Order: sequence, then C-alpha cells, then structure tokens
Amino acid sequence: MTETAGILIIGGGVMGTSIAYHLARQGKQGGERVVVLERQAICSGTSGRSGAIVRQHYSNDFTIRMAKESLSVFQRFDDLVGGDCGFITTGMIVMTNEQGAEALRANVKMQQEQGVKTHLLNGSEVGQAAQGYNGEGITLACYEPDAGVADPMATTYCFAQRARDYGAVIREGVTVTHILQQHGNVTGVRTVNGDILAPIVILAANAWSGPLAQTAGLVLPITPTRHPMLSLRRPQDFGGRQGLHAVGLDITRQIYLRPDLGGITLVGSTEDVLAASDPDHYSQGLSEEEIAYLRSSAAGSIPALARAVSRGGWAGIYDDSPDYHPILDRIEPYTGLYCAVGFSGHGFKLSPIVGQWMAAFILTGQKPADMHHFAIDRFAQGQEIRPRYPSGVLG
Ligand SMILES: Cc1cc2nc3c(=O)[nH]c(=O)nc-3n(C[C@H](O)[C@H](O)[C@H](O)COP(=O)(O)OP(=O)(O)OC[C@H]3O[C@@H](n4cnc5c(N)ncnc54)[C@H](O)[C@@H]3O)c2cc1C
Repeated sequence: MTETAGILIIGGGVMGTSIAYHLARQGKQGGERVVVLERQAICSGTSGRSGAIVRQHYSNDFTIRMAKESLSVFQRFDDLVGGDCGFITTGMIVMTNEQGAEALRANVKMQQEQGVKTHLLNGSEVGQAAQGYNGEGITLACYEPDAGVADPMATTYCFAQRARDYGAVIREGVTVTHILQQHGNVTGVRTVNGDILAPIVILAANAWSGPLAQTAGLVLPITPTRHPMLSLRRPQDFGGRQGLHAVGLDITRQIYLRPDLGGITLVGSTEDVLAASDPDHYSQGLSEEEIAYLRSSAAGSIPALARAVSRGGWAGIYDDSPDYHPILDRIEPYTGLYCAVGFSGHGFKLSPIVGQWMAAFILTGQKPADMHHFAIDRFAQGQEIRPRYPSGVLG
C-alpha cells in the first residue's frame, strides 16, 4: 500500500526540522501528519558544518527584525522550544576601514532603531570592547553585546525531537528522487523506497533543492558554492581551554571569527564565491593555501592568533540565491508545493523564525508580516534584497 502523509518536508537540516516542529506543534489539534525525509542523517548537510553565529547585524530593517526575534528564541531555547541548543552569549565586534564605514554607520543606526543593543566604536576602543581584537587601521567598529554562538547539531536535534514529541515522523536514510504532481497539484514524492503521497510538500534541501525542483519541471535560482572554515587552537595564554572571545566580523579582511569550546577559533571568509560547486562532490577539506590565507587574516584581526595552531578545518556548501537571501514561498504553478531555500551563509541564525513563518503560511495561507520580502518572484520583479556591504553573506 502506498504510504501517505499530510505534509512532507524534504531535508532534515535546521530548516526542515524547525519547520516540522512548528507545523507539528501548531497542527496538534486535528493537524495532518508531518513527515520529514532526510537522505542521510539529521544535520548531515550544511547545518552540520555551520559556524552557527547568531547576530542581529543586518542591513535591512526586516532582516534585523528576523534576526532579533530568532535571537530571542536562542536565548530562551529550553523554555520556548525545549532542550539545550548550546547558545552562548559572546558579544560581537564588527570592524572596518574607511571603505565600509558609511555602511556600518547606517546599519548600526537602523539596528538601533529596531531596538538592537549595539553601539559604534573607534579603532582605539576595539580592544577594550572585544578582548584580543586589533583596532589598528580600523576607522569604525560596532559592538553587539547580545550576539553569540550556538551548536548547530544540538539545535537541529532539539527541533527534531520536539517535532517528534508533537507527532511528526522523521525518517533518516530516505532519499527523495522526484517531486510528484498531477493536474497542477503536488501529489507527493518518489523516494528510493517508494512513493509517499501528500497534498503538501516543502523543499528544504538547501543546495540539493535545485535538482529536486527540476524533477517537477521547475527552475529554482540556487547556486551551490563551497566555503572553507579553518579551525585554530588558540595559544594557551589567550583564554586557555575555557575562555571564549567575542565573535568578529572583519569587513576589511573579509573574514569572520567564531570562538568555540576547547580553545578553538573558527575562521571563515565572507567573500562571495561565484563559481558553482557540485554539492555531492566537492573538496571537504582545506588546501594549504586556504589554511595560510585564513590563518594570516585571522592574525590580523586577533594578533594572538599568529601563535595559534592549525587544526585543519572543513568546507561546507551554501545555497546562494541571486541576492544571497532566502526564498520562502509557495512554488507556482503547483498547489501545495513550498520552499525554504537560498540561505547562503547566514541561515542558521534565522531558523527559528523561518520555521515559524513557513508553518503559519502553510497552515493559514497568510504570509506573516515581513515574509513577502522573501517571495520567489522578487528576482523577476526587480525587488532583490540589497545589503549595504559588498559581501552577500553579511546580509
Ligand atoms: C562553513 C559554513 C559556515 C556557516 N556559518 C553560519 C553562521 O555563522 N551563521 C549562520 O546563521 N549561518 C551560517 N551558515 C549557513 C547555515 O549553516 C545554513 O544556512 C543552514 O544550515 C541551512 O540549513 P538547511 O536546513 O537549509 O540546509 P541543510 O542543513 O543542508 O539541510 C538540508 C538537508 O537536506 C538533505 N537532502 C538533500 N537532498 C535530499 C534528498 N534528495 N532527499 C532527502 N533529503 C535530502 C541533506 O542531506 C541535508 O541534511 C554557514 C554555512 C557554512 C557552510
């Protein structure tokens, strides 16, 4: 007998599980059965390789509001969702030379207008606000005390567990091969184990979403791009095993720095990558050149890191949309087909609100305020989302 479900979600990353949790919770009274299909294991895709920095530093009022609301969930995750998502408040410094100063000033003004705690600093104040950071050559900086880092694996498992608690089913090791449709309606999916029929299908498969959409004759504007992240063991006299420094966004050097437990600092690039990678066949390790480049850039931002030891690192895949912002919408022309894709390198922090919005849209047919900015037709309408910084990942 062919299996059926009420709502099928393709992808068991932080987005798929957050959407499942919100749908299952809200649909508890008489709701449809929510089933998540994950081809490998929960969090085995981009979420598992994420830097998981949670900040509110964005360029548009609506992305600031999204980040602010999501941060409030991370801060009270156990009360609001349930479980330990590993969120730690570290604070965050954003630093730039003359070139990015105007954008940073405008962003901070907008963030303050939206109620974000953040304030401007000059170069000489950098080291005091964020211990270890180098203010030399910095024209303008800002400090956001509430920013922090979470554990992406723990977060995704919490969403998955809470979704199960509300009746959702999460099936690992099930690869979806086709989206099924008939007479303008989505009817389910084909998997390696057989068809599953459902009137609602949500594509939350990150960079793997494009080929899946193609099976229904649809083109999703998603480019998979590879992004390396270096793992450095900090010198023992810079915080030791237990110490954590502030998150850093160094706009001039185009890097971000994320403190991790065990004396580790993760360093990634904020440069946009224009060449597409195959998300199933890309180099998951770092080249010598990438290690040297990220290491020397990191030492520019935090001089103590000149004495750090490389522990290698890993590369992950972004699902870049043309404006590096998500597409949260139904996909025409099929009734019942939705997507939550295109998060580029900054989706993790938005996962609580994305789950909430997608569930509300699917269950009520109404988009929550601000969600219309992420419509799929914005590219055709010339309404792309425009960040102030040249790098898309910063948002
Ligand atoms: C190096 C790096 C650093 C990052 N740092 C940050 C950061 O500091 N802050 C931040 O906010 N964001 C960050 N991001 C981005 C963030 O991690 C992503 O936006 C987010 O994790 C995307 O979640 P997702 O659920 O959409 O994707 P994924 O976690 O990739 O989930 C998609 C899932 O779909 C599954 N799947 C694929 N094809 C199929 C199929 N055919 N059938 C069934 N299942 C399938 C995959 O196995 C995968 O588990 C970073 C990303 C990377 C790579």
